[in-house]
Amino acid sequence: MYFVAAPNIDTIVSLAKRRGFVFPSSEVYGGLGSAWDYGPLGVELCNNVKQSWWRWLVYERDDIEGIDSSIILNRLVWKYSGHEATFNDSLVDCRKCKGRFRADKITDNKCPSCGASDWTEARPFNTMLQTKLGAVADDDPTALAYLRPETAQGIFINFLNVQTAMRRKLPFGIAQVGKSFRNEVTPGNFILRTREFEQMEMEYFVSPSAEHSKLVDYWVEQYLEWFGSLGITRENLYLYEVPGEELAHYSKRTVDIMYRYFPEREKPWEELMGIAWRTDFDLSTHSKNRLDVDGKRVNPDSTEDLSYFDEPTKQRFYPHVIEPAAGVNRTVLAVMMDAYSERTTDKGETRVILKLSPQLAPIKAAILPLAKNKPEIVGMAKAIKRSLQPLLRAVYDDTGGIGKLYARQDEIGTPFCITVDHQSLEDEAVTVRDRDTWEQERIKVTDLAEHLQKRLKPYTTPSLPEPI
Ligand code: ATP
Repeated sequence: MYFVAAPNIDTIVSLAKRRGFVFPSSEVYGGLGSAWDYGPLGVELCNNVKQSWWRWLVYERDDIEGIDSSIILNRLVWKYSGHEATFNDSLVDCRKCKGRFRADKITDNKCPSCGASDWTEARPFNTMLQTKLGAVADDDPTALAYLRPETAQGIFINFLNVQTAMRRKLPFGIAQVGKSFRNEVTPGNFILRTREFEQMEMEYFVSPSAEHSKLVDYWVEQYLEWFGSLGITRENLYLYEVPGEELAHYSKRTVDIMYRYFPEREKPWEELMGIAWRTDFDLSTHSKNRLDVDGKRVNPDSTEDLSYFDEPTKQRFYPHVIEPAAGVNRTVLAVMMDAYSERTTDKGETRVILKLSPQLAPIKAAILPLAKNKPEIVGMAKAIKRSLQPLLRAVYDDTGGIGKLYARQDEIGTPFCITVDHQSLEDEAVTVRDRDTWEQERIKVTDLAEHLQKRLKPYTTPSLPEPI
């Protein structure tokens, strides 16, 4: 039994374009591979996802700080993090149609374009996007820089700054949300795999003697609850224990949370996020004092030591880190697929209802005048919009008949439609219509803000047991 309401990603692509969530990028020039632009409702949905994540981790917990580091870092960061040497995809070419693919994504040895099975040898392809800094000659190698392929490194190199400035003791975490870039060999599937995307990463620093594997489980549970609070059904999530041979060079254990992005396929799962025990690899590799087995400095370029002095044990060490790394765009796609539903009206028409969790809905309340040629009704509706705006995102809309306006708001996930009619002018009351039940209630204008706020249940926090 499938719990995804959207039958496939294409259904969301068409809704997203029709209703102003996501547009194909650069369309006037024929598009750009797999780049997408977020429209008026998409930018709100993305912001709400990021805000929910930030509030949950940085505000509601007491052990996590937020930062916003540069996208372009010193190239040496990527040398010592291992990305220059190992951030590769394995690439193969089809000899028949010249198509180029990621070797690990070819499942039946057949070319996805032409069906042939005549491949070149696999070879590594570094997926970091390059750029040049400053007004330099084209071939000047010292100007080479990268657009970050993960936000995590900006956190590691600021570990000591944050720890010292905020007087933190282990365990504590640093969270960051922002753009990352990867020169993906085969981008595609809408916003699932793009070359420019957004990540929400958190590095949770703990002692080398902590129970790291249990901490991975702890963060998996926390994220399952957070995804639940966003309206994602548990049955559409699946935990994948990454086998040893597939682990990244820095990881001792990784669990991927997969989402049922392809309900129509035999293999429906694709990664939504990963939770990795990154050991002390990153902090120690960026530190000037780390020595190798022969007593030589591992990093002769670093000017800092990112170790931590533990007062109770009087020991100095490199903290280990547990990293939950999630994608904003993949979360948005999962949220939209899960929220998608269809309902048939009494007249036999099919209506789409996007049952977004209220905290994520781009618009919380739409104020609709029943007659747009009646200045008193229009005036009252606009005044209600203005009075609600400081409390919640509200819009005024008179671009169609009431049936059309309701249908449009259902399709973009607005939890409440508020209708101002002729009677409103006399009884100072309006009709509040519920998106999911289509039931209507008459509410006094003076009680409206409180009524909506109660029903919107501003924010659901997952339970927060103490970290281990
Ligand atoms: P995949 O195996 O799907 O390429 P990954 O394991 O390389 O992903 P991570 O390095 O773990 O991904 O990145 C953390 C998260 O960032 C991913 O779980 C995903 O949500 C997001 N992400 C990574 N690459 C992309 C991309 N090209 N487009 C959109 N989101 C991405």
